[in-house]
Amino acid sequence: MTVRHCGSYGVIAMPGRSFRIARIAGIPVGVSPWWLAIVALITWSLGASYFPEEIHGISPGVSYALGLGSALLLFASILAHEFGHALVARRAGIEVEEIDLWLLGGVSRMRGEAHDPDDELRYALAGPAVTAVIAVCFGVVALLLPSSTPAVVRALVEYQVLVNALILVFNMLPAFPLDGGRVLRSLLWRRSGDVGRSTATAASVGRGFGYVMIFLGILEFLGGAPEGLWLALIGFFVMMAAGSQAVGAQVQAALSGVHASELMSTPVVSIPERTSALQAGTEYFVPYRYTSFPVVDERGRAIGLVSVAQIDALTRQQRSARWVADIADRDPGLIVGGGEDVARLLERPAFARVGRAVVVDEPGSPIGLVSITDVQRALRASRLTDHATSGSTHTAAG
Ligand SMILES: [Zn+2]
Repeated sequence: MTVRHCGSYGVIAMPGRSFRIARIAGIPVGVSPWWLAIVALITWSLGASYFPEEIHGISPGVSYALGLGSALLLFASILAHEFGHALVARRAGIEVEEIDLWLLGGVSRMRGEAHDPDDELRYALAGPAVTAVIAVCFGVVALLLPSSTPAVVRALVEYQVLVNALILVFNMLPAFPLDGGRVLRSLLWRRSGDVGRSTATAASVGRGFGYVMIFLGILEFLGGAPEGLWLALIGFFVMMAAGSQAVGAQVQAALSGVHASELMSTPVVSIPERTSALQAGTEYFVPYRYTSFPVVDERGRAIGLVSVAQIDALTRQQRSARWVADIADRDPGLIVGGGEDVARLLERPAFARVGRAVVVDEPGSPIGLVSITDVQRALRASRLTDHATSGSTHTAAG
């Protein structure tokens, strides 16, 4: 039930914003409001049926407390699974932005993708390896418990063995982007050397698994087992996620090898850092009608981007009192070299957030601006040329 997605595309729509609860080993951990609903649902279903069936004569209070305890232990297991992925990713030089616990488990948000199939394989197996260790540990504890152990403790431990084993089996299905699908992709990638095609194949297999899960889930539900809805929901999620990963792979393939300088809009007009916001409005934003400008230091090097919205947000008094350098967005992710690969640029969270970046030359002076729109235009164009090539190949072959 644990899925990762990498980069800023191939993005799985997150239902609801998550809020931070902790920072562990330097990695922020967030919880989606949906996850709280899931904890409540697990507590309820365990408290109302699982524990009363396992332990005869248990009081409802104890049963629900056990349910909550089990849900929180499950939460800890999933977190450990995600840290397995995240720490291995970090060793391979991929930055981990945060770990989110949400509807169906955990998601580690990475900046960038693995650069070789062996890294990808290690990274895909690290999470399931942690889950396997947890399941085995609880299993050993269950076997070693003396016969005098209270039934509640035994039931709690046995549930953790069961649920971790279930997570392990489910995650190792070769349904990309589940971990097993990542393993499949890395093996295909190692054999062919073509990451794009391997992703596309793994995503198709993933989508197939998604359909099968939906079908089986609905069948189960109609057969009178309400848990079938879970399977169908997970199947739907796998199907959607596999589809968006396939799109991400196409984007990556179309844009890798294309440089920022090839897509940028020129010429570029920059605003010196010691310009008041008021002056920037009257001398730049009004006459040029651009929505944002690079801000440069006294040596002409780009230090950030200032947008019309940032000027708009100020009162007239603030506009005459503040320099553009103080209000500009100075995230270093907004400044790219002309030779930067556009596929890499798309992985920058700052670019995804602002929708544009300043392209600079070797000394750091702005030479253009590249926006999401420029990238989309290039993608459309590359699709047209793809169609043209495949069309002519077809004619030649036919
Ligand atoms: Zn995982």
